Amino acid sequence: MNQVKIQHIINFIRKYYGTKDFIPLHAPVFNGNEKAYLNECINSTFVSSVGKFVDEFEIKLAKYVGVKKAVVCVNGTNAIHLCLKLVGVESNDEVITQPLTFIATTNAITYANAIPVFVDVDIDTMGLSPKSMLNFLGQNAEVKKMTCYNKNTGRRIKACLPMHTFGHACRIDEIRQICKEYHIELVEDAAEAMGSKYKGQHLGSFGKLGAISFNGNKIMTTGGGGVIVTDDEELAQQAKHLSTQAKTPHSWEYHHDEIGYNFRMPNLNAALGLAQLEQLDQFLEKKRNLAQAYKTFFEKQGIKTFEERTDEMSNYWLNAVILESLGERNLFLKEMNDAGVMTRPIWQLMTKLAMFQDCPKANLENAEYLEDRVVNIPSSVK
Ligand SMILES: *Cc1c(COP(=O)(O)O)cnc(C)c1O
Repeated sequence: MNQVKIQHIINFIRKYYGTKDFIPLHAPVFNGNEKAYLNECINSTFVSSVGKFVDEFEIKLAKYVGVKKAVVCVNGTNAIHLCLKLVGVESNDEVITQPLTFIATTNAITYANAIPVFVDVDIDTMGLSPKSMLNFLGQNAEVKKMTCYNKNTGRRIKACLPMHTFGHACRIDEIRQICKEYHIELVEDAAEAMGSKYKGQHLGSFGKLGAISFNGNKIMTTGGGGVIVTDDEELAQQAKHLSTQAKTPHSWEYHHDEIGYNFRMPNLNAALGLAQLEQLDQFLEKKRNLAQAYKTFFEKQGIKTFEERTDEMSNYWLNAVILESLGERNLFLKEMNDAGVMTRPIWQLMTKLAMFQDCPKANLENAEYLEDRVVNIPSSVK
C-alpha cells in the first residue's frame, strides 16, 4: 500500500459514484413513496405510536423476513434489550456475545442487568465463532437441571447474542445447535442484516427472537427504528405489551400489569419504513452489484474484500477491505478521509472499553486480528 495505490482506489470510487464531492460511507435513498406516505400520515393526524402504517409495516416485515410476527420499536438497541428480557434474561445472568461489534449489542445486555461474556469471532464471517463458544463452554460451563452455569462465576449463562457483521451471516446454524445442547436461549442481533439470508432463510429468524435496525445508516431506514421478529406468537404479544408500557387493553382505564417500556415505533416512522421496504429488493441488487465491482477491482490491487460464503446471500450493507497491518490501515484511513472519501475502521473491541474490560472472555485472537485491519469503504446505493 502506498499513496499511488490509494489514489487509484480514490479514483475508482469517485468514478463509481460520479462525483468530486464528499462521499459518505452510507447515505439513505428516498426514491419511492416516502413523501406520499408521510403526507398521508400527517393528514390522518395519527403521527404517533398507533396507526395504519405501524400495522401494515409489521405485517409486511413479518412476511418479508418469513416469520409469524414482527413488532416494531423506536430503535434496534431497545429491540435487542426487549428480546433479552423476553427470553428470560435476569439480573446477574451472563450472555455470550462477540467483542467485535457495535456497542449497542453490549449495551443492550447491560440494560437487561446481565453481564456480557466475550468469545471470539471467525475470521471469514467476522461473527461469533461456534468453535470459540464451544471451547469456552467446554472449559467453563456446567449444565444442572437444564440450566447452564459458568463454573467460575457461579452465574447462570442464560442467552447467546451473536451479531451478523455488515450483513454477513455468522455460523448461525452451528451456534443454534450449541445453544440447544447447553440450554442457552438464542437471540440474534441482526441489526445490520435486513435482506440477508443464510441457506435461504432470513437472518434474525434462526433464534427464538431476532432484532433488526432501521437507523438512518442501515440498508433501509425509518429515520430511527427497529423490529423484533419471531415465530413465537406468544412472545410477540409479550413484546408488544412490554413495548407499550405494559398497559392492559381497555378503552379508558389505565392499568399496567408490570414495568413496561415506551419502545413503540411512531406511525410517521412506519410510513417511511413502508416506502423503504417497497424498494428493498432494488437496494439489495444494487448493493450486490457494488460489492461485485469492488471485488473485481480490489482483487487486481491484491487487496482482500469481505465476501459472502457459499450458502449465503449477504445484503452487503457495508463493504469492507482487510488490510495487511495496523500501519497500512492507518495510512489508508488518513489518505482516504483527507481526500473526502469516507472510510472507517471496524469497531474497537468491547473488551478494550473501560465498562466491559473486566467481563469474562475467551481467547480473542481473531477479533484482535480483524480490529487492526478491517476498514469500511463507501457503500451507498447509487
Ligand atoms: C445499528 C446497530 C444496532 C442498533 O441499532 P439502532 O437502531 O441504532 O439502535 C445494534 N447492533 C448493531 C450491530 C448495529 O449495527
